[in-house]
Amino acid sequence: MNPVYADHIATTPCRPEVFEAMKPYFMEHFGNPLSLHDFGQTARDAIEAAREQVAGLIGAKTEEILYTSSGTESCNFAIKGMTHAYQKKGRHIVTSSVEHHAVANPVKFLEKNGCEVTTIPVDSAGRVDPDQVARALRDDTALVSIMLANNEIGTIQPVAEIGRITRERGIVFHTDASCAVGNVPVDVEALQVDALSLSGHKFFGPKGVGALYLRKGTRITPLIHGGIQEGGRRAGADNVPGIVGLGAAAVLAREEMNDRVARVTDLRNRLISGILERVDEITYNGHPELRLPGNVNIAVNYVEGESLLLLLMHKGILASSGSTCTSRALKASGVLTAIGLSEQACQGSLQMTLGPGNTDAEVDYILDVLPEIVSKLRAMSPLYHRKD
Ligand SMILES: *Cc1c(COP(=O)(O)O)cnc(C)c1O
Repeated sequence: MNPVYADHIATTPCRPEVFEAMKPYFMEHFGNPLSLHDFGQTARDAIEAAREQVAGLIGAKTEEILYTSSGTESCNFAIKGMTHAYQKKGRHIVTSSVEHHAVANPVKFLEKNGCEVTTIPVDSAGRVDPDQVARALRDDTALVSIMLANNEIGTIQPVAEIGRITRERGIVFHTDASCAVGNVPVDVEALQVDALSLSGHKFFGPKGVGALYLRKGTRITPLIHGGIQEGGRRAGADNVPGIVGLGAAAVLAREEMNDRVARVTDLRNRLISGILERVDEITYNGHPELRLPGNVNIAVNYVEGESLLLLLMHKGILASSGSTCTSRALKASGVLTAIGLSEQACQGSLQMTLGPGNTDAEVDYILDVLPEIVSKLRAMSPLYHRKD
């Protein structure tokens, strides 16, 4: 049996259509989009066509899309570049307690270098309260950055409400939508954001390519200085095949969006309700409805996430965990502690993220295997025996 891939939050497979679209741009059409000759023109046409495709997926104008190397670069570009460009207003930044490292770490960097940061907490479902964001805004606030969907617990933030507030106050607002775009409908007009980060490999495109949506008229200081690519805002020869792949992935996402959401939501609901039926002492983390369709994040009491993952892996099920050992960080997941889970509960965290390529049979297989593994681990756990 092939492995059951339930880690779509880490990355997704490149779709064959995407790969086919990219292929000619490695060797046949290898031109540099900046070249004036025909080879350059072909490459230029390709990246401009892709720009329209990416814009179309998120309701943006073509000229509002800037290519980057990743979701991480887009977030860094937005956070450092916009804070710098708006520094005359002040150096105050508002963010949330559940951001991905791609946002949290550049914000930390700026804090070390003289910015003041207000971090908005989340409730037990992982949601930010827009009123709290409104109260945190100050005359010297340069930027608000709050993610659209969380990569661990899947919770979707009230970005449109926050966008309405920031717009009223004339403060620029970036949202990290790296794990949302291509998996749920995203419209920059409805969200009222000024900047939005997205990543190709989170929605069946290639790795190493992303984009930053930047609303027309929004200022940004370049992160990478050099040539005149991307209107002088992001230098370096364009990753033409990657960009073509990003465009192709955007087209597929747009065409398949309704089916993707319906299908993946159905798989996820079957998986989570099956788990809750079969295994006791489990917390289902995140918001019951306002979450990414494929996200199942649970805390399994009295077991260690690492052992759970290893035994699942042994049975061909590939998932992830926010527990200490597996996150390769030194502490438990900041997101799980931010929603109020105890250190011990965090240790038993298990995240399975499904995609449209998963099957009902695979969900059934997980539901067969997981309860056995949990019983086995609990049988060995002194904590489980001591609980009564
Ligand atoms: C994956 C992800 C990123 C980083 O994107 P890369 O393209 O892998 O650099 C940032 N934020 C969130 C929420 C993500 O899920």
